[in-house]
Amino acid sequence: MINRRGGGGANLGYNNKICLIATMHGKERAIAPPFERILGCRLIPAKINTDLFGTFTGEIERTLSPYECAKAKCQRALEEKGGSLCLASEGSFGPHPYLHFIHADQELLFFTDKDLEFELTVSKISLETNFNGQAIETLEELLKFADRTLFPSHGLILRPHIRKNKGQIHKGIQSVEYLKNVFKDCQKESDDGKVWVETDMRAHMNPTRMKVIEELAEEMSARLALACPCCHTPGWGVVKKSRGLECNLCGLPTELVQSEIYGCCKCDYKENIPLNRELADPHYCPFCNP
Ligand SMILES: [Zn+2]
Ligand SMILES: [Zn+2]
Repeated sequence: MINRRGGGGANLGYNNKICLIATMHGKERAIAPPFERILGCRLIPAKINTDLFGTFTGEIERTLSPYECAKAKCQRALEEKGGSLCLASEGSFGPHPYLHFIHADQELLFFTDKDLEFELTVSKISLETNFNGQAIETLEELLKFADRTLFPSHGLILRPHIRKNKGQIHKGIQSVEYLKNVFKDCQKESDDGKVWVETDMRAHMNPTRMKVIEELAEEMSARLALACPCCHTPGWGVVKKSRGLECNLCGLPTELVQSEIYGCCKCDYKENIPLNRELADPHYCPFCNP
């Protein structure tokens, strides 16, 4: 394993430290276990009103990028509660950036250490998501939608489809009885008799999303457990993958990864660690198998 980490050394500096997590939606349930197990670091939820930075349901528009938003939440949490360590996570949902016909969950986890003056961001695009929304006219359609989107373990949001005044948004629906009642109410309020239903993407309403956040927390803790061989800042890890593994038939570069580049969160030091893999199968070669 040692050669796969580059020259990163162990960082034990977060043992018994306290790190804030800027969340309203119970994300500490997913993030705290790896932080405790891998770093010995304890997470404390900082209950700042993160909705001020924008909501999924659009009552407050999001103007910042997910990275800027996570950073701003940490800033606010540290100002309000004190301390030097803080985490925040942001999710965005919609068509996959390349595969437009499927929905994806793009998650980002941000960490800042004000004492050591560095930040670390890890992110992931997951195709495991129930993200969806549609205008619905009948109870039967609604129950089909609910089935498809993993209700009731995953919450739903309902609102009148078209209404003159701003109708009420019903969030966090997780029981069939309540779902049916809210549907009837929204239908009465809606000018076209349709109800807009969508998946509730807030982390505590969405176990699928919570699992992706947990995977990111694992990755981040593992990185924070390693320090840069040059300046000893925590967060040493893979910052880039270098493609171009040679074809074993003609020797031309392919799209396969040949090495991983390890880097630091603070200084420019990098190490290029070749993956010990055989040459590429001609199947992946643009020349041999165009
Ligand atoms: Zn460094
Ligand atoms: Zn080839």
